[in-house]
This record gives sequence, structure tokens and C-alpha cells, in this order.
Amino acid sequence: MQYRTLGTSDIQVSLLCLGTMTWGEQNTEAEAYSQLDMAVDHGINFIDTAELYPVPPRAETQGRTETYLGNWLARRGRRDDLVIATKAAGPGLEHIRGGPRLDRAHLEQALHDSLQRLQTDYVDLYQIHWPMRSTNYFGKLGYEHQPEADDTPIVETLAVLGDMVKAGKVRTIGISNETPWGLMAYLRVAEGQNLPRIVSIQNPYNLLNRSFEVGLAEMAHREQVGLLAYSPMAFGALSGKYLESPPADGRLTLFSRFSRYSGDTGVAATRAYVEIARRHGLSPAQMALAFVNSRSFLTSNIIGATRLEQLEENIASLEITLSQAVLEEIESVHQRHTIPCP
Ligand code: NAP
Repeated sequence: MQYRTLGTSDIQVSLLCLGTMTWGEQNTEAEAYSQLDMAVDHGINFIDTAELYPVPPRAETQGRTETYLGNWLARRGRRDDLVIATKAAGPGLEHIRGGPRLDRAHLEQALHDSLQRLQTDYVDLYQIHWPMRSTNYFGKLGYEHQPEADDTPIVETLAVLGDMVKAGKVRTIGISNETPWGLMAYLRVAEGQNLPRIVSIQNPYNLLNRSFEVGLAEMAHREQVGLLAYSPMAFGALSGKYLESPPADGRLTLFSRFSRYSGDTGVAATRAYVEIARRHGLSPAQMALAFVNSRSFLTSNIIGATRLEQLEENIASLEITLSQAVLEEIESVHQRHTIPCP
């Protein structure tokens, strides 16, 4: 396993991070434990969760994922070996505190509840799951300026996060589903008001959505705010398994509301990437992950799995170095299908 430094902190995280959002919906608690054991055995020390998990988000299941992780952490002990990341939800989702906000009352309650479920007294990385303003995230491309839809200002959110760091309940802070402006605003406020600096940005990044490269990859380098890439296999689509006979128990079959990676252009691009992998004797799933692993602006690749065989295959993506020929073919598909699934 390789390890990278989390932003400007002194925390070392594994290049692969274990995603958790299937635990409590597609995966049982026992399966979550098996995934955790396998991941840790392979040197993964970084685990990503959120107060809203599992997905799809529902009132009846909310918090289960953190609870399973907390139960496992309590049994295992040695909490300090692991880097635990969680997230406070952004607006929407009425079943969480009547609609989350990024103000003091909501964030303090959110962290309190997460710590209880995780059975720990600190989180290593506390992330804002999505912004409290109208902007481009979760697949939105066209920008409409709607300042009247702005709610909690970043300066207020950051002040609360700063107090959490001071209190020792949070070691570092990060953002997710953010834009270049959002990233710079967090950094500017931190500098101007002597508040903590964000260390990471958790955004989607995979062969079907390389939008991070447009404005954020440069910032990741220049500002030392590395990418935590989520959905590196485009919800499993890049394994190619939906192209011929979609599995009945696959996420995209079970939850048709997840349409981000299933449109015609996404499928056409997936077909092209799967062909490259097959031509070069690679597993399409591993090629997709190896591509993400090789990006210079990446701090950690957040992999997901519902089965141990998948997890094993995904962890083994670390052993694959994509040849120049494969990388060139990937670039040529990218020229034809640029960001088919934002
Ligand atoms: P992903 O790698 O794109 O998709 C993972 C899913 O693909 C698995 O659950 C499995 O689903 C399928 N799969 C995985 N490996 C496979 C393989 N080798 N062969 C065939 N199918 C395979 O990642 P993700 O689950 O969407 O995201 C990973 C993590 O990122 C999440 O757990 C979460 O921690 C984080 N995340 C964050 C955000 C955010 O807004 N910040 C959003 C999404 C995710 P099936 O078995 O059901 O097919």
C-alpha cells in the first residue's frame, strides 16, 4: 500500500480509502465487518462515511453505516491506527434535522450524533458533504447565478469547524461536491480569519466524469488540497457488467433513481473504455481504478464494494500500471466523450 499526506496536515492516508455507503442497505453489518477486516489487512487505514449513509438515503436507515463502523471500531480497538472521515449533510433531506443547514446548531448536532454512532471522541477528517448555495454539483453543468438561494455563509461554517478542531473533536476538515470558487472561498476565509485550512476535496472522479481536471486539479496541486475521488467505477458501470446482462443485485438495477451513469452517452463511453481494457487483457474494473490511482492530483481513491471478491479485485488495482498505449487510447476516448456523466 502507498500512503499520501492529507493536505497540509501530518496525517498519512492510504492511496485507497474504503467507502462505506452500501452498509445498512445493500450490505449487512457482518458484511461491513468482513470488508473492514480485508481492507485493513491490505494496509488501508482510511475509511470514509457520512451521517446520511447508507444510500439511497432514507429516514429508517439513516446513521446505520456509522453505527456499523462504530461497532467494529469498538470491538477492534486501536482507534488511532485509522483515519476516520465522516460528513455533515448539506441542505435538502428533510429527515435529517428537518433539513440540514451548515450553521452552528446543525453542525454541532451532526458531529455529536456522528461521534456517538462511531463510538469515538474525535474524527480525523470532518467534511461538508455538499454546499449551502445554488451551484454546480451532483451532475449540474449549466450555471445560473442565484445569490438569493445562498444560506449559511462559508465564514460561519468555517468558524464552527474551527471550534471543533480547537475542542479536539475534529483533527482536519474538508469539503465535498465543491467548485473552484467554493474551494478558494474556504481557503481565503481561513487565511483571513486564522481558521483551519481545508485539507481535501471529495468530488466525483472517474473515466466518465473528469470534470475535476477543468478547474480543480491545478488547485489540488497549488493549494495542497488533494482529491479524494468518489465513485471511481461510476457506480460499478465501468466494470462493464451493465452492458450485456445487468446483474439483478447491482446498484444500478436495484435503484433506478441512480441515473447519473446510465444515459446513452455514458453507456457509449463505457463501451469504448471496456473495449480498451479487453484489448489489453485488463479487467475493465481494474483499469478504471488504476486510472484514478495514477492521477497526480489524487490523495486517495475511495473504492466501494458490495462483495469481498469485488473488494479484493479493487484493492489489486494498485498492482496495475497502465501502459502508455492504454493511456493514449483512454485519452482518445476522452476527446470524443468528454465528461459524458457530470
Ligand atoms: P464506485 O466504485 O463507483 O461503485 C462501487 C460499486 O460498484 C460497488 O458497491 C458495487 O456495486 C460495484 N462494484 C465495485 N467493484 C466492482 C467490481 N470489481 N466489479 C463489478 N462491480 C463492482 O464507488 P461508490 O460506491 O459510488 O463510491 C465509493 C465511496 O465514495 C462511497 O462508499 C462513499 O464513501 C463515497 N461517496 C461520496 C459521495 C459524496 O457525495 N461525497 C458520493 C458517492 C460516494 P454493486 O455490487 O451493487 O454493483
